[in-house]
Amino acid sequence: MSAYAVPAPEIVSIPVLGCAERFPVRRIYCVGRNYAAHVREMGGDERDQPVFFQKPRDAIVQNGSTVPYPALTEDLQYEIELVLAVGRGGMNIPHRTAAENVYGYAAGIDLTRRDLQLQAKKEGSPWDIAKAFDRSAPITAIRPLDGAALPASGAISLAVNGVTKQSADLAEMIWSCAEIIATLSTGDRLEPGDLIYTGTPAGVGPVQPGDRIVGHIDGLPELEITIGEKG
Ligand code: MN
Repeated sequence: MSAYAVPAPEIVSIPVLGCAERFPVRRIYCVGRNYAAHVREMGGDERDQPVFFQKPRDAIVQNGSTVPYPALTEDLQYEIELVLAVGRGGMNIPHRTAAENVYGYAAGIDLTRRDLQLQAKKEGSPWDIAKAFDRSAPITAIRPLDGAALPASGAISLAVNGVTKQSADLAEMIWSCAEIIATLSTGDRLEPGDLIYTGTPAGVGPVQPGDRIVGHIDGLPELEITIGEKG
């Protein structure tokens, strides 16, 4: 065994409700265009196929944190999303048995540098700079599924400084949790530790330093972050 040439990266992990053990994060997958009203507000067509992209695991932000306003953008936006946590790996997972691959679920915010995303869309460039930046993935503790069905309905909402900006129901997702897992696993093998942000409903918008964001999904802790000064 040789030592590492530079300090090894830390394991990123998330608390689990009712459990002292933590959930270790391997990959963060995200789904774009999964609520019709949001597709329309972004100028798309709801019959467009959802898209997949990734964030780096160290983009995770623990609940209750302050997130410094990121560099390179004048239009930082929130997107409240249901997040699935993969507990059992698999490739070509059938949607009928997808729940067996899910350890639990959480509430997350897909922070987005919207101006850079719009530019990337226009140029046909990758979305990484708009989506996969430092501290772009706040998330709550995970609620274990414990044999229950995958979440298919329930309120999902987000407020900025106490004003509701997003308010929808998980039942409005175009692709269900099981369908997302089935489709993702046709291209890459899912593994324990993977997170899947499942897309955001309508009402996305900008935030400024000092803003307090509170996300809510039924059955989960509130997700609270504050936007800090640029830095
Ligand atoms: Mn999103």
